[in-house]
Amino acid sequence: MDVPVSKIACRATIIHCLDDPGIDPGSPNMQVIEDGLLVINDGLIESVGPAEVIQPTLEPSVPIKNYREQIIVPGFIDTHVHYPQTDMIASYGEQLLDWLERYTYPTETRFENPDYAREVARFFVAEMQKNGTTTAAAFATTHPGSVDAIFSEAEDAGMRLIAGKVLMDRNCPENLQDTADSGFEDSHALIKKWHNRGRLNYALTPRFAPTSSARQLELTGQLASEFPDVYIQTHLAENRKEIEWVAELFPGHRSYLDVYRHFGLTRKRSIFGHCIYIDDDDRKLLHDTGSAVAFCPTSNLFLGSGMFDLDAASQSGVQVGLGSDVGAGTSFSMLKTMAEAYKVLQLLHQPLPAYRALYLATLGGARALDLDDKVGNLLPGKDADFVVLDTRSTSLIERRTRDAQDLHSKLFALIMLGDERTISATYCFGKQVHGD
Ligand SMILES: [Zn+2]
Repeated sequence: MDVPVSKIACRATIIHCLDDPGIDPGSPNMQVIEDGLLVINDGLIESVGPAEVIQPTLEPSVPIKNYREQIIVPGFIDTHVHYPQTDMIASYGEQLLDWLERYTYPTETRFENPDYAREVARFFVAEMQKNGTTTAAAFATTHPGSVDAIFSEAEDAGMRLIAGKVLMDRNCPENLQDTADSGFEDSHALIKKWHNRGRLNYALTPRFAPTSSARQLELTGQLASEFPDVYIQTHLAENRKEIEWVAELFPGHRSYLDVYRHFGLTRKRSIFGHCIYIDDDDRKLLHDTGSAVAFCPTSNLFLGSGMFDLDAASQSGVQVGLGSDVGAGTSFSMLKTMAEAYKVLQLLHQPLPAYRALYLATLGGARALDLDDKVGNLLPGKDADFVVLDTRSTSLIERRTRDAQDLHSKLFALIMLGDERTISATYCFGKQVHGD
């Protein structure tokens, strides 16, 4: 029988989440296969299971890539990142509001040049794939051309991407401002052009409440109701000064989140970055509206913003994904992001076992982005987005994992010590996009 060339199988240890494993490393919500086989056909996962079970069912002509001694996990999902901030990552000093003035706005001004936008977008997508990230929700800048640049590059690279033009009509440099009307028109045109095109989705993207007028938020809410499956992404309660500012600009609201609710921006497919200073009523509102949270630990530490309370979010049932938040975040690596999440939660005396960290970076992120029918784990029918983690990627990792007692300990060490060198291959929609 003829086998399509797009059909391949990969043999490795396979670890993925069927549901949130919580803090139990032995949770039945994990599928952990010591010697597994993952079969990919035409961009999708066809089957997954123990090699001894799956291999005899395969046509003999299907090529098998041997990744033994390595670990296959689902592709990572970055639920909050700013691609235009690639060139300002690791900029010294300042907390949120000063940091925006000093670094972010001058950098984002450069995106009025489409050639620059395209060049940064190309680097960004390559960097994501090198780090094993196969799905991301990204902010562009206020320039519509910055959105075209990132979608074009993601499309060429086969990456799944949610992105949108930043809406910002006040309290920022004039040359970065749109207006309520132009922001509306531009977003509308970009939705028509990019939303649901292949693996691309559009997100309405007000930077945060302080840089949008009430009129702009109102028009954003109008677009949200006109396009019910479009995403909404913004920032919420990252920094105390920011929250005071929102209370001055939008008096009479119970909370910062209530401002977004008022304008119709809390719903399924709304993703709120940070959510550090929220209360139980806010969590209930997030949960009840199907809104999700992006937990961005490297950024929260870097800007001295604070610590995200994962337990409180989980108890309220809110979906939480991880975000790198580059350029306030300090790494494109979701392994490093997981490691920093662990440390933030240590300070709050909340456990984060390796399997739950993996959940946040894969299936949890997919649920937060309402994409769990397509990505997030390796079940048959889902997009074949996965990464191969190399336990011999550095001499220290090789040494540390050699005698690990079990796979959970091995994965934990990989998360703590890993970076892009640990990603030996990345596959997007069944196609290898990084690695030898
Ligand atoms: Zn951000």
